[in-house]
Amino acid sequence: MSQGTLFIVSAPSGAGKTSLVRELIEGLDGIQVSVSHTTRPMRPGEVDGVNYHFVDMATFEAMIEQGDFFEHARVFDNCYGTSRSAVETLLAAGQDVILEIDWQGARQVREQMPEAVSVFILPPSREELERRLSSRGTDDHQVVSARMREAVSEMSHYSEYDFLVINDDFTTALDELRALVVSQRLATPRLGQRHAPLLEALLSD
Ligand code: 5GP
Repeated sequence: MSQGTLFIVSAPSGAGKTSLVRELIEGLDGIQVSVSHTTRPMRPGEVDGVNYHFVDMATFEAMIEQGDFFEHARVFDNCYGTSRSAVETLLAAGQDVILEIDWQGARQVREQMPEAVSVFILPPSREELERRLSSRGTDDHQVVSARMREAVSEMSHYSEYDFLVINDDFTTALDELRALVVSQRLATPRLGQRHAPLLEALLSD
């Protein structure tokens, strides 16, 4: 069985990354999202082991020490990391894997796995981003400004990515993401490996 492809998906908060990725994996077989570890508190509606593995700082540090993370980073006030063994197991089983991680994690992954395919999702305009960030519970001006600064800081790394998707119309953005995943599956080395018996039969005298 051929190895799956590793996809890195980054975006500022408010770009719609999580909803896009959720829809993407619902509509495609053979692709999974890696569940990260984080030290941040659980938000209402989140489930441990589904959205994240929620751990305390001591556990997170022990995991760093043991080399358990494929990548890890402090993103604003909290720590996040991707389990090396979970990702390697899925890829080896032929599954495509999506890492929803920030630009710092993306850099670490590219260094170790240059063949990983990276995608950055952008909002359609600054005004729309501001609108999306202010309609999240609190509308406090300072809170929204802080979120905007964080978003701009994340977006400033867009050029390090292989592909850009602008999430203006959700369906269009989803189609574009799906096209990216499918095109990787059709790449000659990958398809050639998967269809080796067919190719052998087609080319035999
Ligand atoms: P949130 O706390 O809102 O779920 O995520 C905040 C940020 O952390 C997002 O930019 C998200 O992409 C990033 N993030 C989530 N999991 C990981 C991870 O495992 N590694 C890294 N480097 N960033 C992550």
